[in-house]
Amino acid sequence: MGYDRPRFNWNDWRWQLTNRITTVDELRQVIPMTDEEAVVAERAARRFPMAITPYYLGLMDRDDPNCPIRRQVVPTGDELDDPHGVPDPLAEVQQSPVPNVIRIYPDRVAFTVLDACPISCRFCFRKRMFDPATDPAPQGFLDEGIRYIVAHPEIRDVLVTGGDPLIAADAWIERLLVRLRAIDHVEIIRLGTRVPAALPQRVTPELCELLERFHPIWINTHFNHPKELTPEAIRACDRLARAGIPLGNQTVLLKGINDDPEVMRRLVHGLLRARVRPYYLFQCHLVEGTRHFRTPIERGIEITRRLRGHTSGLANPLFVVDTPRGKVPILPHAGWIERDGDEVVLETYDGHVWREWNPPDDQRMSG
Ligand SMILES: *Cc1c(COP(=O)(O)O)cnc(C)c1O
Ligand code: SF4
Repeated sequence: MGYDRPRFNWNDWRWQLTNRITTVDELRQVIPMTDEEAVVAERAARRFPMAITPYYLGLMDRDDPNCPIRRQVVPTGDELDDPHGVPDPLAEVQQSPVPNVIRIYPDRVAFTVLDACPISCRFCFRKRMFDPATDPAPQGFLDEGIRYIVAHPEIRDVLVTGGDPLIAADAWIERLLVRLRAIDHVEIIRLGTRVPAALPQRVTPELCELLERFHPIWINTHFNHPKELTPEAIRACDRLARAGIPLGNQTVLLKGINDDPEVMRRLVHGLLRARVRPYYLFQCHLVEGTRHFRTPIERGIEITRRLRGHTSGLANPLFVVDTPRGKVPILPHAGWIERDGDEVVLETYDGHVWREWNPPDDQRMSG
């Protein structure tokens, strides 16, 4: 394994970014592809650009077309055939009061500050942002976004996302955080980032010192497979954790990549060892070109059922289906069964029935 371009500046995140693989021709020099695969990959990459950092490429098993790393970033003909996919499955454009702010919840917003990522995930639910023709304003509308947040004192939580805010330069990130922190009603700032998984070199001591000055900062990483938890990635998480930043992880449920209880168990255990708390497991979005990644929702339920109780509570992400009206948590049909007179009947994780006294519901909660 390994990717053998000159290792000059391998640890420099800017080198990693400027040396990304963005054409099928370059890709063919490092992984075997048939002519036919190359032709369709070319077509798929025209619809949604390819980008792979040398680091991420190095995690790939070159000879296995089903390698979980390869499938996340290498375009294939499967992307060209997807009757159910749509450009904006969460209707985010429609739900943006100003171009870069997505608002579906009363007290928090997603602020999409950048239309670039360290790698292009082939299942990305914001593919539209990488195409100026379909997204009106991926970038350059920060002022308007900030003005919107300032004008809405009920917004206490800003989720800075993209794209990936952490691939910007330190000074740019600093300016953004200064502006957000100047807003009194913004209590917490969250950053959503693929950097620890795909470009861990970016997590420099300088970046951590910078972020630390704007607490409370929370970070959501995006790891999908245990292979992504390399020593470099773990070091990046460790640096962020040492800067006092609580780390959560969002995973997308992907067919043939992590839709297996054993793979998911290894992933969540690896995350906990890296001090990252599994937060959400997302049903794959109905975004165009992702038919081959989607599993039935029942698969996510099954994985949840196989984890809950069987391993540390901390290791369990919440399985959610993302909709234009927010995230819908899906729990296996276990736990609550029914009220039986003045008792409740519960089912435990290992299938036992438990009954206990349950006070009658004579005082309904108001509100
Ligand atoms: C996911 C999301 C949030 C944050 O949701 P949490 O459940 O609080 O993590 C906020 N705004 C939008 C538009 C989102 O998609
Ligand atoms: S990191 Fe997130 S926004 Fe970026 S390409 Fe991957 S899924 Fe899309």
